[in-house]
Parts: sequence; structure tokens; C-alpha cells
Amino acid sequence: MTKALALFSGGLDSLLACRVVAAQGIAVQAVKFVTPFFGYELLAREEDYARTVRERYGIEVVLRDVSEPYFAMLRNPPHGYGKNFNPCIDCKILLLTEARRLMEEFSASFLITGEVIGQRPMSQRRDTLRVIERDSGCTGILLRPLCAKNLEPTLAEREGLVDRELLLDFNGRGRQPQIQLAEQFGIRDYPRPAGGCVLTEEHQAKRIAWYYSRYPQVRTNDIRLLLFGRHFRLPHGAWLVLGRDEAENGRLGALCAPGDFLVHMPERSGPMGVLHGAEHPEDFAAAAGLVVRFGKKMAGVSALATVLFASREEERRLEAEPLGDELFQGWSL
Ligand code: SF4
Repeated sequence: MTKALALFSGGLDSLLACRVVAAQGIAVQAVKFVTPFFGYELLAREEDYARTVRERYGIEVVLRDVSEPYFAMLRNPPHGYGKNFNPCIDCKILLLTEARRLMEEFSASFLITGEVIGQRPMSQRRDTLRVIERDSGCTGILLRPLCAKNLEPTLAEREGLVDRELLLDFNGRGRQPQIQLAEQFGIRDYPRPAGGCVLTEEHQAKRIAWYYSRYPQVRTNDIRLLLFGRHFRLPHGAWLVLGRDEAENGRLGALCAPGDFLVHMPERSGPMGVLHGAEHPEDFAAAAGLVVRFGKKMAGVSALATVLFASREEERRLEAEPLGDELFQGWSL
């Protein structure tokens, strides 16, 4: 039986691409690549995710973590960034390169994506689709079933593995053809088109760009820290993250890495924090003042509070007053 490997985002277009090819009697294996910028939380519940996709859409999916090559690419994407810190063209090249390398493992004869020509301004123009194909080493082996009739026949079509007549000719930004096709396949509860990738979100993208400009070595843990909580660049170079609620406080506890300090007020309710790269006493003092500032105010009790800094190697305690808002305005990330 012919097998195809699909690049699977989980969005409607990738679902439909899989189903269009599977409808020809071809076994489709989907792979969803994850990094802390997209899909990473699924790694903790891979089986559950795979079961949901199988039951809802009839598609077999596996996850693959490509964080390390992705971090390196994001520092200097050869085709540049989009509006924010999103390297969409090089992102696709990297994911397709990884998918091509997996073809043998899954005995796949060709690759599939849900791309539609003209749908996205930067990464889905005709010339860009060709560049992506070429630079990922996928020329001829990449089938885009939703718009295949608007493109040159691929090897799979030329060799008769796929019937080109049963492929589609979608084009442009309209969603109606996809919605109608979803109805034909009985797919109803599909995800609506929306971000899903933090590199396209202005605020998050700025934080990530700052991190890249500041740290030569990218750590998964740090990227995960960047994506929630309140962030402050302290005057002497340290970076402080404060939780905004119980759930975030809990996540910070789990993400405090060797060399970082976990910060909190042991005798009063308030945020948990992670302090990274602190060396100067003034950064410890500033962090303590911020923890007290965002802690719970208690009527009739002095604003002065004890703040505990705990790393794997040492503990420090500081007494601090809440830091005045005017003092830290420029520190927010
Ligand atoms: S939006 Fe994000 S995941 Fe999608 S192509 Fe661009 S960088 Fe990659």
C-alpha cells in the first residue's frame, strides 16, 4: 500500500489535505512538529492528542520535538522574519526538511502539506512555494493536495501513485471551499484559523526577540518561561518573571532551572518569581521590591516583607518595601 507522510498543523487545511489523499486509498501518517513556540504542551499528553485526532478526524498522528534545530534557525533565518519574529519561510523549510528525513522511518513515498497557493502573503506565493520545496530538498516529492491542480504534477502524480484528477484547485484566501470540503468529509468541530504560533503575536514576539538579542545560548526552559507571567529586565542585567495567579506560580516552580533563583515571600501571599542571571546586589533588591509590590497588601500590617531567594546552591533573605511604580516602568518586557 502506498504511504504518505503529512506535515500536520492541526488546522483545517492540514486535516483536509490528509483526508483528500487518504480518500484515494493511500495510508497517511501525519507528523506534528512541536517547539516551545507552537504545540509544545502536547508533548505532555501525546497519547491523548493522538487518540482525539484519530477519533475526530480519522488521522494517525505522531509528535516530534524539533526545538533544537528551530532555535538555531530562528537566530538568523536566511529568508528573514515576517511582521513579528516569525520566520515563516524558513520555518516551513525546516519542518519539511525534518519531514523528508522521516520518510524512510514511515516508509512514505511522498510528503503532503495543507498549503494553498495565494493563501498567505509571504509563505504561500507560487514562487515562495517553489523556494520552500527546493531549499528543503523536497522538489518533486511534496504534494499539496488542496491546490495541486494549480501546480506542476509531482512525482507521485506522474508515477500514478496519486490520481491528479481527484486533487483540488483551491487558490487564495477564501475559506468557503475548505468549509464545504470539511462538510463533505463530515468534519465539523475543526479548529478555527487562528495563531497557535507565538512568533506571530506582537507582544510575545518582542519578548522572544529580546531574549535572542541578550542570550547566545537558547534554552527550552527559558523560552517556556518567556510565554507567561510578568517580565522585568532589571537594571544590572538580571531577568525576573513573576506569576500572575496560582497556576502561573505553579508553572514557575517547575521551570526554575539550575542557576536560577525561585523567589517568594514565605510569610505573606504574593507572586512566585524566577530570577535569572542575577549577580548584582541591586538586582536582588529590585526583585525583592517587585515581589512585595505585586504581593497581597495587608491592612494594618507594615509594607515591609521578607523575600526568600532559593537556588539549588544557596538561599538568601532580603527585607523589602514595595517598589514604587515609577521606578520600574521602564523595566517591563
Ligand atoms: S506562523 Fe509560526 S509555525 Fe506558522 S509558518 Fe510562521 S513561524 Fe512557522
